[in-house]
Amino acid sequence: MKRAKIIATLGPASNDKKSIAKLAKAGVDVFRLNFSFGTYAEHQKVINTIRAVGKELKKSIAILQDLQGPKIRVGVLNEPVVVRKGGELILSGNSIHKTKEISNKKIISVLPTTYKQIASDAKAGKRILLADGKIILTVLKTDKSRKEVLCKVVNGGTILTGKGINLPYTDISLPALTAKDREDAEFGLKAGVDYMGLSFVRRAEDVVKLKRLMSKMKKSVPIISKIEKPEGVDHLDEILEVSDGIMVARGDLAVEISFAKVPMVQKEILRQANLRGKLTVVATEMLSSMVDNPRPTRAEASDVANAILDGTDAVMLSNETAVGEFPLKAVAAMRDIIVETESSLLNEHYHLSLDLPEIHDLTQGLCAAASHLSYFLNEKALAVMTHSGSSVRVISKYRPQSPVYAATFNRDVYQQMAFYHNVHPVLLDDKGRFEDGDDSMCSLGLYELTLKRQKMVRAGELLIFLTGDITPKGWRVNTVKVKKVS
Ligand code: PGA
Ligand code: MN
Repeated sequence: MKRAKIIATLGPASNDKKSIAKLAKAGVDVFRLNFSFGTYAEHQKVINTIRAVGKELKKSIAILQDLQGPKIRVGVLNEPVVVRKGGELILSGNSIHKTKEISNKKIISVLPTTYKQIASDAKAGKRILLADGKIILTVLKTDKSRKEVLCKVVNGGTILTGKGINLPYTDISLPALTAKDREDAEFGLKAGVDYMGLSFVRRAEDVVKLKRLMSKMKKSVPIISKIEKPEGVDHLDEILEVSDGIMVARGDLAVEISFAKVPMVQKEILRQANLRGKLTVVATEMLSSMVDNPRPTRAEASDVANAILDGTDAVMLSNETAVGEFPLKAVAAMRDIIVETESSLLNEHYHLSLDLPEIHDLTQGLCAAASHLSYFLNEKALAVMTHSGSSVRVISKYRPQSPVYAATFNRDVYQQMAFYHNVHPVLLDDKGRFEDGDDSMCSLGLYELTLKRQKMVRAGELLIFLTGDITPKGWRVNTVKVKKVS
């Protein structure tokens, strides 16, 4: 069984029902919907399909809605524009693609962008990167009244409509949560997504804005902050404080801070997040060559394994599953690499080397103890009953040796827990509910029976139960109980 979770981005190559079912069976735990693309009707259809597949396969599947954030793009071009090293071009805050004669009778291109304030924010001497960093420009001067930025080409290439523009270390006046993001988030909350990803997070305040929107909507889901700007790396601590998880979003991150810095920054982001018990994702280009090849490169296999060694909860596929030729093979390859890597890590020595969260309260203490115990007992699983899933997330971050069977009556919680490392969500039958006050819990007996019926355990096998009591404040975890299945 695989412990780390797989997130797969859906797109034209994979968003039909048959593909979604195959991907889920092959090992996808979370589907990412990229809100940089697509209409609400299309997204709604995909969400309905994922839910239907989850029910048919009796599998817990989570949906991650990825908000575009303040992504800047090249506007609509009349034709592709080829730029060469040493040449000049103008990026403009207007929407018209044209050419312009400048002082020395040179004709240069004026390219529209989606960033109206570009001339106010860009600074002479700073770099601007286009098309995933393939094209590098240096700002020569800005003309605020014409909304134009004159740039020198450092690295040439072909510029196409819609290509991304990055301005590292430039104070961008675009809001962290754009009007489109707000509308998309409202749509997502109504449609019942399980997680929300926020792009280009720079400060805690960016995340708080999304939280405010959620509380206005009276519905909130965990927020995964995407770290993909140097400002996000610099303010990691405050961002982690207000986020439920982070994504090492290496696509834009590599463009903004240089690819050479990404491996060590990845390790540091994961370390900090794991110490705080936050969810972690490593994303982008993990199996990039599989967009048009049925097998990964050796370097890609090592990259996935390295992310597992770094202690991430989840690894993500983007183009590989969204637009690639081999979505299913990419998931299978990722699953195989994860399983192989993990199989050599199941020992107490490795456990001691991990960045586990500090213990500050009783739930953490009991979860840490149960996890520690799992390295000495020969149990089948840790069995946890949960109301909100929060204790399950805690125990997952202490990285127990055996799987966590996490039972709940709540379908939303059941779906959300698909993201948690080494957790196997179990949906309990409503009929077994306790009638006395809190209706969220059931007896150990019913839980055991459910696990037996679902063939997750057999009589005679050992379970470490993490259980509790119903208090006036709700369900409180207070007991670690070791029990043989009857
Ligand atoms: P994206 O985010 O795919 O939405 O750009 C991930 C990344 O930048 O790595
Ligand atoms: Mn990105």
